[in-house]
Amino acid sequence: MIRITENYLNLQDSLAESAENAGRDPKTVRLLAVSKKKSIDEILETTLLGQRDFGENVVQESIKKIQSCDRKDLIWHFIGYLQSNKTRAVAEHFQWVHTIDRLKIATRLSKQRPDHFPALNVCIEVNIDGEEQKAGVLPDDVAELARAISTLPRLKLRGLMCLPAIRKSFEGQKKCFSKLRKIKDELNADGLKLDTLSMGMSADYPAAIHEGTTIVRIGTALFGERV
Ligand SMILES: *Cc1c(COP(=O)(O)O)cnc(C)c1O
Repeated sequence: MIRITENYLNLQDSLAESAENAGRDPKTVRLLAVSKKKSIDEILETTLLGQRDFGENVVQESIKKIQSCDRKDLIWHFIGYLQSNKTRAVAEHFQWVHTIDRLKIATRLSKQRPDHFPALNVCIEVNIDGEEQKAGVLPDDVAELARAISTLPRLKLRGLMCLPAIRKSFEGQKKCFSKLRKIKDELNADGLKLDTLSMGMSADYPAAIHEGTTIVRIGTALFGERV
């Protein structure tokens, strides 16, 4: 148990240091604690330290957790591959979806979002390296999907997300995050109002912070290895 607390405090220091190195206010970088495969006790331990945002990637497993935590102050983010037959459960239990990559899923989420909830926050997942086996829309197709999603009444299009190929060098990591930031800037120049870049994980968050990320999605550096 002590390890998570220690990891959390170290991670907060490290996030703040990266932000300061990039000339940014640390408060502009939001930590999404990726709690997939982690227990409710592990999640609750981080809530004692002030953590509120949690990321999950398997629908059934995460809904069980959300229900057993039974805490209205926690914010749940879906970050996995979403099949169309699971959209209702996500629309009813999550506040964010980071992995929208086709209009069909977005349309279903908008229809299924309960009226008494605020609009569902969504990001478009961009296949930033054009990898064949990876989810996400190609950079050239983002604008069309973004415009279509921005008309859906029960969704709020917040921004873009990416899960890049693994790169060891800081320079290489920065280059690909900067590509996502440019796509967002172009969309905003074109009239959209995106305020979110969901990029950076345990191995590459300093580069993402340097390139303007607003949400880092971190699992391993906080909760330890997933088994
Ligand atoms: C698992 C996962 C993460 C967290 O990865 P770590 O390397 O453990 O920090 C971030 N984003 C997505 C989409 C994931 O599936």
